[in-house]
Amino acid sequence: MLKGRVDVSRANRHLSAMSKVSPISAGLSERCPNCGQGRVFRGYLKFKNRCEACGQDFTQSDTADGPAFFVGFIVLIFFAPFGFIIPMADQPLWWKILLMFILVIVTIVASLILLPKAKSLMMALQVANQAKQAELKGDED
Ligand SMILES: [Zn+2]
Repeated sequence: MLKGRVDVSRANRHLSAMSKVSPISAGLSERCPNCGQGRVFRGYLKFKNRCEACGQDFTQSDTADGPAFFVGFIVLIFFAPFGFIIPMADQPLWWKILLMFILVIVTIVASLILLPKAKSLMMALQVANQAKQAELKGDED
C-alpha cells in the first residue's frame, strides 16, 4: 500500500528558492535557477556540474528531448507557412529559390538560437518545481 508523506523541509526549500529568482528569467538568460548569477552551460548545450556562484547541483537535471521538441514546434509554426506561400507566389523561379534558401537558413539559425534558451528554461523549471523521476516512498512492507 502506498503511503503519502509530505516533506516539509523540502517544501520550505522550494518556497525559498522560488522567492529568490524567477525560473523564467533565469532560464531565458541561461543563468542559475537558484541564484540567478552563474551560467548554466559550459559549452553550447552541455550543463556545468554545478553553479560557480552558489554551488547548485546541475548534474541531476535531465531535460531529455523536451527543448528540441518545443523549439522545433515553435519554429515550425512561424516558418512552415512560408514554405507553402513562397512556391505559390507569382515571382520568377530564381527569386523563389533564393527566398526558400533564405527561409532554410533563417529556420536553422532561429532553432540554434532558441535551443539553449529552451534547455536552460526547462532546467530552471525543473529546479523550481523540484521535478524528478517518480518513486515510491515508505513501501517496505
Ligand atoms: Zn547559482
